[in-house]
This record gives sequence, structure tokens and C-alpha cells, in this order.
Amino acid sequence: MRKMNSSFWVIQALLMAVLVPGVVRAQAVPSDLIVYPNLIVYNAKIVSMDDYDINANVGSTYRAIAIRDKRIFKLGTDQEVLRYAGPDTVRIDAHGRTVIPGVINVHTHIHDNAMNKWVDANPNTTAVKVFRVQGEDRAEIRKNVEVLMRERMGNIKPGQWSFFYLPNPAFGTGGGEGYDFLREADMTAAEIDEITGLDKPVLLAAHPAYIINTAAMNQLENIYGGKTEDYPEGWTEVGFADLGVEYRREVVVDGYFADKTDELKEILYAGLQENAAAGITTYSSHIMGIQNLDAYMRLFREERMPIRFGFTHYTGFTMNRDAEGFYRRMGDLFQLGNEYMWFQAIGLGMIDHGPPLFCSTMIDMEALAAEGKKEDYYEWCRYAKDTKNYQTIVTALSNGSRVVAGHNYGDLSADHYMDAIEEAMEKSPEITLEHIRSLRLSMDHGGLYPRPDQLPRIKNLGMMLGMGSAALSRSLPWIQKYGFEKYQGWVMPTKRALDAGIKVAWEGEGGVDNGLFSLMTPFITRENRQGVIVAADQAVDRNTLLKMATAWGSEYLMKEDDLGSLELGKSADLLVLNQDWFTAPQEDLDQTYPLLTVMGGEIRYLRDEFAQELNMEPVGYQLRYNFERGGGN
Ligand SMILES: [Zn+2]
Repeated sequence: MRKMNSSFWVIQALLMAVLVPGVVRAQAVPSDLIVYPNLIVYNAKIVSMDDYDINANVGSTYRAIAIRDKRIFKLGTDQEVLRYAGPDTVRIDAHGRTVIPGVINVHTHIHDNAMNKWVDANPNTTAVKVFRVQGEDRAEIRKNVEVLMRERMGNIKPGQWSFFYLPNPAFGTGGGEGYDFLREADMTAAEIDEITGLDKPVLLAAHPAYIINTAAMNQLENIYGGKTEDYPEGWTEVGFADLGVEYRREVVVDGYFADKTDELKEILYAGLQENAAAGITTYSSHIMGIQNLDAYMRLFREERMPIRFGFTHYTGFTMNRDAEGFYRRMGDLFQLGNEYMWFQAIGLGMIDHGPPLFCSTMIDMEALAAEGKKEDYYEWCRYAKDTKNYQTIVTALSNGSRVVAGHNYGDLSADHYMDAIEEAMEKSPEITLEHIRSLRLSMDHGGLYPRPDQLPRIKNLGMMLGMGSAALSRSLPWIQKYGFEKYQGWVMPTKRALDAGIKVAWEGEGGVDNGLFSLMTPFITRENRQGVIVAADQAVDRNTLLKMATAWGSEYLMKEDDLGSLELGKSADLLVLNQDWFTAPQEDLDQTYPLLTVMGGEIRYLRDEFAQELNMEPVGYQLRYNFERGGGN
């Protein structure tokens, strides 16, 4: 628990003097010394999640909680807590509803999602024009791309980006006609140039495959001051995977918004508010698009962050002509910031890609080399042992930085990251095993890892894992291709990791339109969005799942002294839920949502119906879920 400063105890003692009759007479206490709680939630089932061990125990429970100065001041029975209420204390009668700590989402992309929503809501913006291309096969895709380029780009202004989204299979499984179209370079940059001319930047995307035209390349060089070293050889003739997703996420914010930081700031603010409404009080992410960082920093300095953000710095690796030199000079910034926004780590970004370009021992790389596709290995395994990226991890770790693997999809890229950690230990006497363990390094996604034999190594290095249920859907066609029975247990193996003593934190990338908890429940059911059960034996119970999303999330962020559970002195981040997560029928769990979100003692979201019940005004963005509109999940 967080240590209290001495003035806190003085105030406590004085308060006791006021409140406990007969102990000391109160006439000596100046009234401005008395600070009452600003908020009390009572008549509630408060589940503290204060047991951090690997088990299904959710810890102490209470009826009431008092918050003062952003922190938890009292926990107890209604009677024990309400007696501290002062004249201005807001009292919230929860009518027996369940209260849990605010949810921690260790990997999501709030700013990217907010920007996508903004673009969809502003089809006439000159920031970017989005074209969604249909087509059953590659020939039809080509025809439709050409028609759109010839007929619909007329009023696009010079310098304005156009994104063409080609058909991509549902649920992020990757592959398909649009992907093949780009990977096989059915349309080269030179051919696109002929139609678009040389002043309208165009990006074609079927993630993780991309291609751009010459105007786009020139624009990138303008924005970032020169050619990036990582750009593939002969880029005008081939499609590529490296950096495509970065460009898609970056060029709008770093281009159009370069001189509109305040406008960008409000777009991010709206996205953060929406997530507060969904129940997230803390999240972690990389920042692609450096203008996003500038916009966040303005919110941070204006003290307007609706939720907490531990960000990973990512752009030192991406497009950096001397990444290793950059990190050699950067030094250790871990946790720099304040409780609303802080430097979480250097992020590797994408150590491999999403399917089908994942770096895994499932794929026979020697056979690939025999097919003359050895270069694919380095495109898929971006941090393989003999790459510059790998050496950069070693250098950054050796220089004392915390380096985490944000996006890691396959088991072989997990090996590469751990190879680099161990090489840093061999290289620098300061980087001992104890030091590495103290950094509590992490890898996200659990797409196709850990393999069972990786668990002792992960445990030995003192690491944590982030896992998101999207992997159950994304990995499906690929484990079906390489052997479902053999490989299903590699997808998000939550139970096996916990049994090996490795803590797992919850991540939810998919946006909050279906509610936060719908991104969690597949950890219980193991059912993916295609309706297939993947490795049923890796299921966890609902209590354990909530620990992943609260207590262990705080450990992943190394903020367990302040966040993750409802304990005296910790930051007051909590949710009042619409239903009892702990007793609701399992089939209803994904329709759990908050009625009230409190972050740092401030009400960040009060749902209108609950506001009405409390005779208060609604607060924050009034989020409505798809299931409320009669739509399914
Ligand atoms: Zn991600």
C-alpha cells in the first residue's frame, strides 16, 4: 500500500478527535484543516480484488467506500463509512449493486480508433479520403481500384491522402484476395502513378500487406525528413508488409494534423471519454503518429486526461535511420510522468505482423528458403537474431531501458525477444537476472505462444504476458492449416501460463461498441467469433479473468502500489456495474457494463439512467452498446 505522508496522519488524528466523542475535545481544530471525503458509495457489494496471488480469490469485500483527495480513504460497512460524510460529500446509494476496481486494458489503440471514427464521421475532410474496394477475385479488385481512382479522385487535392481498403477477411484472420493482390504486386506503384499522377498520395491496404505510390513516398519523405532505411528494395515494383500499418496510422496525424494539434487533442479526448464510459480507467499502448504524443501532452498539461495512460515509446525503432544510436543516447525514462500519463517502456512495436505474416516455428522456414522465399523470413520475423532490430533491443536493455514487446504474435518472435534479453545480460554486467526480473518485461497478444516449452524461460526472466481474446479468432485458419489438434493449445494459453506461475494481464483491442466485458468473456468460454471452441482446457473462471483485468493489469504496468485494487490509500478508480459480474448467468456476462466510472476520485462517467435514479446530472459521453440497439455481438 502507498505510504501516507505525515500530514495525512495529523489530519486523521484531528478528525478522530472531532468524530469520536469523549476522546479529546474538538474546540482546537481549525475548520480549514478538516477535509471531508468528496465521494461516498454505499449500500454496495464492493469487491476489492486485493488478493494478487494466482488463484480465484477476489479478496476482501465491503459495503461502502469513501474517497478523499483522489484516494481511497475508508472501506467498511455503511455505518463505518457514512459517518465520515461532510456537508459537501456526494453520497451514491448503489442499491446493492456491485463495485469493482476500474478496468485496466494493457493493450489497445484508443487514439487510432478515435481517429478512424473521426474520419468515418467526417467524409468530406481533406485529411484523408477512404475508399472501400469490393471484389471477389484479384481481377475484379484491380478493375474496381482503377475505376475508383479514375472516377472518384477528381476532387482530391494535391497532397491529400487516399486510402484504398481492399477486401480483407473478417476477424483479422488475414490472407485472402486483397492480401494476395498486394503481396503479389498485381498493381505496381508505377501503374498507380499513371492513373493518380504524382501529387496525390495513395495507400492500398489489406493488412498486413500494403503498397503506396510515388506521391505517397514523396509525402512520407516530406513529413519525416528523408527516406527511411527500412523501406524495401525496389518498392515501386513490389507490395510490402513492413511499415505499412505504421504509415496508415501515422500519415494522417503527422500530415494533416501537424499544425492542428488542438483539434487532434479533442479527437483523442473524445476517444478517452468513450473508454471511460466503457469502464477503462487505465490503459497502455504505443503511440504511432508523433503528433498524437503532442496532443496527449497537451491534455496531460491541462490536467484533462479522463483515464490513465502508460505509453510505450515506439517510434525510435520505426523508420529510424539509426535506432540503435537513438536508444544508446536516450537513457532510462521508465515511469517518467505523473499518475495520469507516464513513460511505460520502449515498445518494440510489431516484432512480427498479424496473420498470415507471423513469426512461428509452425512454419517450416527451411522449406520456405527452398522455395526461394528466404527473404520472407526477415519480413515476418522482424527482430530475428541477425537483424538490426534485434541488436537495438540488446543495446537499449544494456543501457538500462525497459523494452517490452507490444505486438508479438508468434512463438518464434517470442524466442527472438528473449534471446535479445539474455544477450543483454551476457553483454553488460549491470544487466543481471535480478535486474531483468525487476523490469518485469512483457509480451502481448499470445497469438500463437507461449509454446509449452517456453514457459520455464518466461518464468525465469520474471516476465508477464498480455493476452487478448481476438487471438482466438485471428489464429483459427492458421492453426487449422498447420494442425488444429497440435496447435490450438498455443493460442492464448492462459491457464497453462498461470499454472506455470506466470501472471497474465487482460488486453482488449477491439473498441468498446459491444461493451468491454464482451472482449473478456471468451477467456471463460474459449469460443471465438467463428463459433469454434479453441483449447477448452485453457479456460479460466470469471474471478481469475477479473484479476487479469484489474490487479494483474496493475502489475503489468508496475503500478500495483497505486492501482488495480480497492485498498486504503490507493487511487480511487472504480466502477458501479449494471449487474453482478460474480453471480450473473454466464451467458449474460458479456452484457456487463458500468453505470458509474470513477477515476482518481472524479466521476468520469455517470450513465443517464443511474443519474436519474440518483437525482443527479449525467456525466461524460453517454455510450450506447450494439446489444442495446437490438443488434447482436
Ligand atoms: Zn495492437
